[in-house]
Amino acid sequence: MSLVDLSPEAFASHLLSLGQRRAYAVHDPRTGRVEVSHQALAELGEFLSADNRDYDKHEGVFLEVGERSGALLGGFVHRSNRGQGQGGLRHWPYASVAGFLRDGLRLAMGMTRKNALAGLWWGGGKGLIARVPGDGYRDPAARDTLYSEYARFVTSLRGCYITAEDAGTGPEDMATVHRHTRFVTCVPPAIGGSGNPSPATAHGVVCAMEGALDHLGLGTLEGKKVVMQGTGNVATAMIGELLRRKVGAIVASELSLERRAALAGLFAGAPVTLVPAQPGDNSVLAEPCDILAPNALGGILNPDTIPTIQARIICGAANNQLLDDVRDAQALAALGVVYIPDYLCNRMGIVNCANEQYGQVPNDPAISRHFGREWDNSVYVITRRALELAEQQSITTAAAANRLADELARQPHPIWGHRTRAIIDGLVADRWHLGG
Ligand code: NAD
Repeated sequence: MSLVDLSPEAFASHLLSLGQRRAYAVHDPRTGRVEVSHQALAELGEFLSADNRDYDKHEGVFLEVGERSGALLGGFVHRSNRGQGQGGLRHWPYASVAGFLRDGLRLAMGMTRKNALAGLWWGGGKGLIARVPGDGYRDPAARDTLYSEYARFVTSLRGCYITAEDAGTGPEDMATVHRHTRFVTCVPPAIGGSGNPSPATAHGVVCAMEGALDHLGLGTLEGKKVVMQGTGNVATAMIGELLRRKVGAIVASELSLERRAALAGLFAGAPVTLVPAQPGDNSVLAEPCDILAPNALGGILNPDTIPTIQARIICGAANNQLLDDVRDAQALAALGVVYIPDYLCNRMGIVNCANEQYGQVPNDPAISRHFGREWDNSVYVITRRALELAEQQSITTAAAANRLADELARQPHPIWGHRTRAIIDGLVADRWHLGG
């Protein structure tokens, strides 16, 4: 069995059996090869080099086995020309090391693009903790141990990766992380953080909807019908934004009975129809509308759902909506559906907390300019630019957004240049893998 087919727990045991707790795979720009920390882990390097779906010459992949938890911890840095690799910490179950690596690689690359398109001076990074099977991960004491370990791991990486909140990680966990490392953003307001990002995310998605409508010459949101899947934190704020813009009708599906009841009270008298859904139920995506906003889960735009879609525009907050980035973007384009890439329109969650370290000002212009139409990197302007590029070049909107993002991602940080690469080189030179 190949090393990458092992479960994260079995891989962690294997690493310990080699007398190691750490490993890395670093792209060497001089040789063009992936260099691994230990000869015994050559298969990791071969796996990365052979993968042309999720691996894109990532600058560094760092792994550590938690000292007390035994969990596999990962820090991924994709491209860091614009600054330190930044992206949230996902605490998730993985069946294999291959799945763990692929998720980290793909998400880090997505963060390079999201940060670059948002005009943030960050590179792309991602953190992962492989959730150990069983329910123990819910225990507050176990989480304290785990997130303290993760924070020390981040500290050891000397700032090439800046962590933040993501799926499976909550504000309490971030407070724990913050106790042990300075390389973290998106911390709770009680310790100087920016707080709930969902209203900003919702506002950003609505700006992208307006950009798409303008691009298509379809006027404003007034009178339009918007269909959404999921009515969680982002969608609830989005409904408020849309009603303020006088949309004609909103149809929103939701799994949770309590949530539907709460929203029925909140939006009583407004043109909002709440429909029940079951887990795995995507039927709401087939509802005819002007704009479809997936606001629940990823992977819902796929060969099963795409032929049923009767929307002119898809623009929603959920991450990774396309099950396959190329195939499904092409299928939507072939149907004449204008798809706004999720990482383009849902950026405000990360924007809201990315620059916490620079302090807080009322109506922060560093945030509000994303909602306007003047700034070159605003959500509205970038949406229109991506749609224009897609039309001019006869490519999908996803390919156009990637092209714009990849160009921006090559710009060096105006003060620090490509310093993060030097941090990674320093870790290798100082034999980071032998520590811990
Ligand atoms: P949330 O958990 O508050 O809301 C998701 C809602 O979707 C829940 O109420 C859930 O019951 C419902 N749901 C799940 N499956 C469903 C289904 N099949 N049909 C109908 N409803 C279903 O999450 P959120 O913070 O509102 O985020 C929504 C999405 O946006 C997520 O994919 C998240 O990763 C992404 N996102 C959020 C932010 C942010 O600022 N919160 C930023 C960027 C991206």
